[in-house]
Amino acid sequence: MNSPRHNWTKDEVLAIYNKPIMELLYDAASVHRRHNDPNEIQVSTLLSIKTGGCSEDCGYCPQAARYHTDIEENDLMSIQQVKAQALRAKATGSSRVCMGAAWRNVKDGPEFDQVLEMVRTINKLDMEVCCTLGMVTENQAQRLAEAGLYAYNHNLDTSEDYYEDVISTRAFDDRLNTINHVRKTNVTVCSGGIIGMGESLEDRAGMLVALTTLNPQPESVPINALVAVEGTPMEDEEPISIWEMVRMVATTRIVMPQTQVRLSAGRTQMSQEGQALCFFAGANSIFAGDKLLTTPNPDINEDKELFALLGMNTQEPFSKKEQPKTTEAIDSRFMDLGEKPKWTRPGHTIERNEKAKQKAKAVRKPTT
Ligand code: SF4
Repeated sequence: MNSPRHNWTKDEVLAIYNKPIMELLYDAASVHRRHNDPNEIQVSTLLSIKTGGCSEDCGYCPQAARYHTDIEENDLMSIQQVKAQALRAKATGSSRVCMGAAWRNVKDGPEFDQVLEMVRTINKLDMEVCCTLGMVTENQAQRLAEAGLYAYNHNLDTSEDYYEDVISTRAFDDRLNTINHVRKTNVTVCSGGIIGMGESLEDRAGMLVALTTLNPQPESVPINALVAVEGTPMEDEEPISIWEMVRMVATTRIVMPQTQVRLSAGRTQMSQEGQALCFFAGANSIFAGDKLLTTPNPDINEDKELFALLGMNTQEPFSKKEQPKTTEAIDSRFMDLGEKPKWTRPGHTIERNEKAKQKAKAVRKPTT
């Protein structure tokens, strides 16, 4: 088994992506079975613990407060609610619970303390706990680690070049800085992106190059297909074809042989045969649950049926890395520093984001 390479070039990655499909599938499947059990699949449940009202302007996201979408906003869930959902996820075969909060970044205070308690609670249920809370400082990452966090998700979303066409409220480097902060702890890194946002193939390759350059490479890489939600700047983007997804998964598998490649948003648009091709090409993880934050996802029974049909087994928690220990808040070595970091706000204008914002303003304007 060779170690993962960190010096892939965009041209090399593009050449892989554009191979004749039979060759690409053969190469990806060969790499996959050299490094992973091809019949094993890891299942994560994604839970939106705080929904909507986000100050960011991510062009793909219905949770951005500045766009008008029909999502239902919700304040931070209680620990009891999260525990009940985690138990449900465990009973239906998930090994991991990923908690997502629609925040630009973490701010120290009671809400973060509550999230830390949720992490402790789920880790004590012997499930892998992941959080996606926006940008975090090093101290915040340490506090999450101490609570027993297994993984932190922070997607690069797209290439560095295309990033400024998608988001104007933060910079690509902010993403890398957060990943670096997480890497200073024993928490694993989950980072991937979205295809179908109008990016070029060079951008897809650029995103993969950026992910492979991370050393170590992320332990998991979610590959999302855009779900174009009405009211967002990307509402008119055409859905990507299954072949684009298969190519992206296969290329990801070849350049990141040991990572868990996760089929994420957009799975409802994929047939069983399409998903099977992705598994053959190296996808070995999915998000389960009837909703992915705010967008639809296949029912858990459909997933179980598919795994049975394909003869795939679900992965046990902590098969890849041992369970982190949970330190109680009272014994914490890392204190609440009262951090309210500002991070970068480039603030350039993105035409389609601006249009969606104006449209939302017009809808909300009270009639006189
Ligand atoms: S993707 Fe996250 S940061 Fe961006 S608008 Fe949505 S909730 Fe906010």
